[in-house]
Amino acid sequence: MNYYGSRAYATVSIDAIRDNFYLLKNEFKLPLMMSVIKSDGYGHGIEACVDALDAQTDWYAVANFEEAKKIRNCQSSKPILVLGMIPLEHSIEASQLSISCSLISLPYAKALSAYCMENGIQIDCHLALDTGFHRIGFRAEDIEEFKKDVDELYRLPGLQISGVYTHFSSAGSAVQADMEFTNLQFERYKAACEYIENTIGPINLKHCCNSRAAVDCPEFHLDMVRIGLFLFGLGPDDYIKKIGLIPALEWKAKLVDIKEIEAGDSVGYSRAFIAEKKMKVGIISCGFGDGYFRSLFRCEKPLIIVNGVRCHILGKICMDYMMVEIPEEIDSQNVEVVTLIGKEGSAEVSTNEIAEFVGGTAIEVTSQITSRVHRVHI
Ligand SMILES: *Cc1c(COP(=O)(O)O)cnc(C)c1O
Repeated sequence: MNYYGSRAYATVSIDAIRDNFYLLKNEFKLPLMMSVIKSDGYGHGIEACVDALDAQTDWYAVANFEEAKKIRNCQSSKPILVLGMIPLEHSIEASQLSISCSLISLPYAKALSAYCMENGIQIDCHLALDTGFHRIGFRAEDIEEFKKDVDELYRLPGLQISGVYTHFSSAGSAVQADMEFTNLQFERYKAACEYIENTIGPINLKHCCNSRAAVDCPEFHLDMVRIGLFLFGLGPDDYIKKIGLIPALEWKAKLVDIKEIEAGDSVGYSRAFIAEKKMKVGIISCGFGDGYFRSLFRCEKPLIIVNGVRCHILGKICMDYMMVEIPEEIDSQNVEVVTLIGKEGSAEVSTNEIAEFVGGTAIEVTSQITSRVHRVHI
């Protein structure tokens, strides 16, 4: 497909994702690897992720049953963990497709167990522990309460509990109080696992590290680590550069026209931009309907790369289009495509730069690129 024909597209480098995987695995001596590709692979596309990772990943993790099925539809036979509950009505299919489910609470575990017994199935589960994040999972802060819940849990038939995991709230933070909290979470997690191993039996898979914890805290590795954003080369720019990860995604859009306007002419909704002089305006077919944050029209920095030069957005960003200033010195004659995220010559706009302006994170930016932006695997 000639993707210059599409309004806007994102290139996703399969090699970058694969290289990031190997770099992390080898450089940081990681144990089993669970590739976290929820939210459509953080916006990169589940197919691209499976293409890049299937040969080497040990596990996948996603957020729901539909995403897990998408991985199976890519012909992958690797184990998949849903980092949440699977609705009862999907659990038969999940069991047939060897999709593992998270036990997020005792009431859910009971309901799932009853459903499995009624339907004569067994389902593989990982027990999620809440060690202080206060999101999903069995509460493990108070070990005595936890013991009661766990005793009840392990008596339930139909559930095959093969893993136990938790999630850190502040992994990788250099702030002393955060590091102490991460250590506390790990201590609670260890105490909970010890109780299970002493009273019930060995746990096959213990895992608690996300990307940042896997790199910064080797003492927490255990059996497996769950790597998400680092696979895509996303994270704080200096940190990503330091460890040598490569951003996998570039976002491009078509320059559909260039118009000359006069002093006093306006551009876009609410006439938010009024020209002070005669100038050239580039019309770009990408807007907030494609996931480009509308608030970026207020950014004072030039954000759109046209022929290797960063240019200013003019006026408000529309749903399907945005307009940019094309300075006289830019040769725009043969420009078909501009860059919203990525590199062109010596100019670069990183995902983080955009994230910082909108007060978010890099993965928020990539995962909000909408489905009408064609993902091109390169
Ligand atoms: C999203 C997620 C991860 C991956 O985190 P990254 O910081 O992107 O590596 C790991 N574990 C759980 C439970 C998650 O929800």
